[in-house]
Parts: sequence; structure tokens; C-alpha cells
Amino acid sequence: MGTSTSMNLWTQYRSIPIVYRIGAAFVLGSLVGLIVGEPATVLQPLGDLFVQLLSMIVIPIVVFTLIMGIRQLDPTTLGKVGGQVVVLYAITSSIAVFIGLTVANVVNPGQGLTLTEAEVDTEATPGIIEVLLGIVPEEPIGAMAEGDVLATMFFALVFGLALALLRDATDDPQIREGAETIFNIMETASEALFKIVWGIMEYGVIGVFALMAAVFGEAGPDALVSFGLLIGAMLVACLIHIAITHLGGLIMLLTQQSPIAFLVGSKEALITALSIRSSAGTLPVTMSNAEDNLRINEGVYGFSLPLGATINMDGTAMYQGVAAIFAANLVGVSLSITEQLMVVGIAVLASIGSAGVPGTGLIMLTLVLTQLGLPLEVVGFVAGVDPILDRLRTMVNISGDLAVATVVGHWNGAVDFGAGVWDGTEIGVP
Ligand code: ASP
Repeated sequence: MGTSTSMNLWTQYRSIPIVYRIGAAFVLGSLVGLIVGEPATVLQPLGDLFVQLLSMIVIPIVVFTLIMGIRQLDPTTLGKVGGQVVVLYAITSSIAVFIGLTVANVVNPGQGLTLTEAEVDTEATPGIIEVLLGIVPEEPIGAMAEGDVLATMFFALVFGLALALLRDATDDPQIREGAETIFNIMETASEALFKIVWGIMEYGVIGVFALMAAVFGEAGPDALVSFGLLIGAMLVACLIHIAITHLGGLIMLLTQQSPIAFLVGSKEALITALSIRSSAGTLPVTMSNAEDNLRINEGVYGFSLPLGATINMDGTAMYQGVAAIFAANLVGVSLSITEQLMVVGIAVLASIGSAGVPGTGLIMLTLVLTQLGLPLEVVGFVAGVDPILDRLRTMVNISGDLAVATVVGHWNGAVDFGAGVWDGTEIGVP
């Protein structure tokens, strides 16, 4: 009797869509953290486990999905898709900083606060040449072991192209068959990895509860009050950017699709980003949403999403704008229009250079502050609330990646919107 009741409860629990269970865990965890305070930080390891489980499959999923994507693309289409993705990434990130600056100019966060002495952890930020050279791995297995997404993508791309060439151009039937077999194995492997994603999401209910309890336990209600305007400005800017740029501009204008359908299709990825504050860590879920819900062909998302998780960071770019105004207010100076325009350029570059892991946006802030001649102590000052701001940034980063993938998929006839837009033929193949 007892067993059947608990079986019933379990079945009922499992029948609730995972995203609602995670959403409830997010809210409950936050409340528990705020109420219990510091002791709630003991839950941190349970949250770290969730992040680690997701990180575990990032690199394999990138490799297999990217190679699978190449199977379906011809090289010209790949170049076209790549160009469209990069241009859209640059435009949307610039708009994000612009919105961040505008909202911050209106809300004026930082006024009334004074800068107290704070520790600054200024990790060196890599130069542009270093970043570009780093894309080519010295050693592919090492790049994978280090979780270096760009370098891994480079190797997977080259390997996938070589396999496709062998399959299409060789006179030797054995090699042709071999190439096809490797593609088939990769396809099965990527399906298996997507299954693992859903298993990990089941644990995510506990993981997210623990992560939120720990972060609010640590920050406490005082931080929320004194940094309220900064958090508020960031929240408003994020919502405006998602509503106007992603949903209005990209989804409605460029693909004529329902913004609600896009949000519903992206919900697991968005809530995971909000919970773990890492674009790279969220990648398995982002890819799974692109495949299953948004119905984008892997030829597009297999390439655009790992790239986006590394270089397309609308939320991170926007944060630089908001934080620059905040920093200027703290020291009582105002930024001229020229200086604010300069922020747009540096912020976009800084966001491209940020890795999709927790807190890099804060480190990149040192670059923006240095350029503007503002005190670097601001970085230490906001570090306490960064775990909260970082969540918002990461969610916007992911929304931008998925919106661009949808548009580029649409442009290349590689999205099955369920309305016969994509007829199932492989893209790039007439
Ligand atoms: N946490 C962000 C991300 O992974 C980067 C940042 O700190 O802004 O997308």
C-alpha cells in the first residue's frame, strides 16, 4: 500500500513537465536562501554536481553534433551559414549594449552609493591575436580535455569536412562506406548524449534548488536592497532586449513565427542558463531545445550554437554598458555620448572574448573601465551581487543564440516550423 502510494506520487511528480519542476525549485531555493541565510551555502555541492554533469557532456555533444551537421551541408552552404550567423551575432550584441546604456541612463544605478575599498581580482584578459591563434588547437585531445569549445569546434569542423570529402570524392568504395559508417556512429552517439541531457535535467530539480539557496544565502537581503537599482536596470534591459530584439526583430520580423512558440521551445535552455550561469554548460540543453522543440536542422545549430556559446553574448555585452554607467555614477562623473559610443565597441569585443562560464563578464568589465579611466575597484564592489547579475546575462546570451539559429535556419530552409517550411530535405542539397 505504502509502496503503491509512493509510486503514485512519483508518477504524478514525473508527469509535471521538467521545466515547471525546475522553475519551482528555482523560486523555492531562492526563498530558502533568503530566509536561512549563510547556512544555506552548505547546499552548494549539490548544485555544483548539476553543473558538473552538464559540463561532462558539453565537448562530446559539440563534436558529434557538429560533425553530424557537416554531413548535411555542402561547403558553400557552410560558408553562407557561417557568414549570416556572425553578422547577426555582431548586430544583436551591439543593439544589446545600446539598450543597456539607454536603460542605465534612465534608471541611473549607483547614485547614492559610495565606493568602499574592495579587493579587485584583475585576471589578465587575453589579447585579440592570442584569442585568434587559440582557435587552432595545438593538440585536439588536449583542447577537448580542457573543455576549449572553439578549438574543439575547429578540429571537429576540419575532421567532418574531410570525412564528407572522402564520402563524396573517393573512388574507393570501402573508404566511402567507412566514412558513412563513422557518420552513422556519430549520429547514434549524439542521440545517446541528448538522452543523457534529459537524465541530467531530472537531477536539475535538486541542483537548481541548491544553487539558488546557496547564492541567496550568500548575498543576503541587504545586498539585494543596496544593489537593487543595478539589478533592476539589468533586469529591465534584459527583458527589453529579449522582447524587442530577439522576439520582435529576429523571430517575428525575420521569420514571421510566433514569439510565444519560440519562448516555449527555448524554456528549458533559458531556465538552465538562469540557474547555472554558464552558456557553455547550458549548451547540451540549448542544442536539445533547438533539435526537439525549435526543429532547427543540426547543419545550422550544430555550428551556430557552440560558436554562439563562445562568442555571442548579448547579455554580457549589455552588462558592460549598464555597469559603465553604474561605475561613472559611483565616482560622480558622467559619460559623454562619445564615451558611451566607445563603450558599445569595447563591450561587443569584450563579450566576444568572454568565455561562456560563470563570471567572465565581470572580469571583462576591467577592460571597459580601464578604457574609460574609471576605477577598477568597481569590479570588486559589484562582485558580491555578480552571481545574480550573471544569471540574467547568461539567459539573454542563450536567448540570442537560439533566436539567431532560428533565423539562419529559416533563411536556409533548415527549420521545420510544422507548416511545411522545411520539407525534410537535407539543407544545401537541392
Ligand atoms: N556567464 C556568462 C555566460 O556564460 C558570461 C558572463 O559572465 O557574462 O554566458
